[in-house]
Amino acid sequence: MPLTLPLTLPLDIDAVKGFLAHDEGEALYQYAFDASRLGPCLEIGSYCGKSTVYLGSACQKNNSVLYAVDHHRGSEEHQFGEEYHDNDLYDQQLKLMDSFKVFRSTMREARLDDTVVPIVSSSAVASRHWATPLGMVFIDGGHSEEAAQIDYRSWVAHIKPGGILAIHDIFPNPEEGGQAPYNIWKLAKASGLFEELPMVNTLGLFRRL
Ligand code: SAH
Ligand code: MG
Repeated sequence: MPLTLPLTLPLDIDAVKGFLAHDEGEALYQYAFDASRLGPCLEIGSYCGKSTVYLGSACQKNNSVLYAVDHHRGSEEHQFGEEYHDNDLYDQQLKLMDSFKVFRSTMREARLDDTVVPIVSSSAVASRHWATPLGMVFIDGGHSEEAAQIDYRSWVAHIKPGGILAIHDIFPNPEEGGQAPYNIWKLAKASGLFEELPMVNTLGLFRRL
C-alpha cells in the first residue's frame, strides 16, 4: 500500500453508520490519495458515507473530486425485515429506505461538500452516458450477482492506466459471505487489464495496466 500520508479524518469515523473496517478504510484513503492525482474517483455504494469520508478526505487533499453513486434505497439486506435493516433509515410514509439525508449530514460534518458529488441514482443509470476517465473506482453496491456484474461492466472501462479498482466484500470461502463481489474480483483478475495488489481484509485491489 502506498504509505504516503498519515490518516487524519475530519470526524469520529466510528460514529458514522456503515460497513467498512478501519484497515479497509485506511487502504481506501491511501490509494485514493495516490489515484486522485490521476483523475476524479468514484464509488458505488455510499450508504451513510463511511467509505465516502475516507475516499473524499484523500481526494480533497489533491483538490480532486469523488463521485458518490447510490440510489440510497438500500441493498437487498437493508430492506424492511432483512438482516441489516436499520429503522432509523426507513421512510415510514413511503415504506422505502432512504439513507440520503444521513449521507448529506455526514458530508457536511466532514466538510466534504467541496469535494464529494452525490449521484442519487442506480449504478446502471449513472453509468449510461458516463465519459469521464477515473483515477479510482470503488465497488461496494448491491450484492446480487446481477448488480455486481453491472457495476463491473459499467465502470471498469473508465479507469485510467495506473488507476485503482477496489472491490469490497471479497469472500473466497462461500461460508463467510456472498460470492458476487468475489466473482467480479475473479473477472478483474482474469481480464489481463490489471496488476493484482495485496488484499486488505475483505478489500480486493488492482492497478490498471
Ligand atoms: N460503502 C458503504 C456501505 C455501502 S452499503 C460504507 O462504507 O459503509 C451498499 C449501498 O449500495 C447501499 O447504500 C445501497 O443503497 C447501495 N446500492 C445497492 N445497489 C445499488 C445500485 N444498483 N446502484 C446504486 N447503489 C446501490
Ligand atoms: Mg461492503
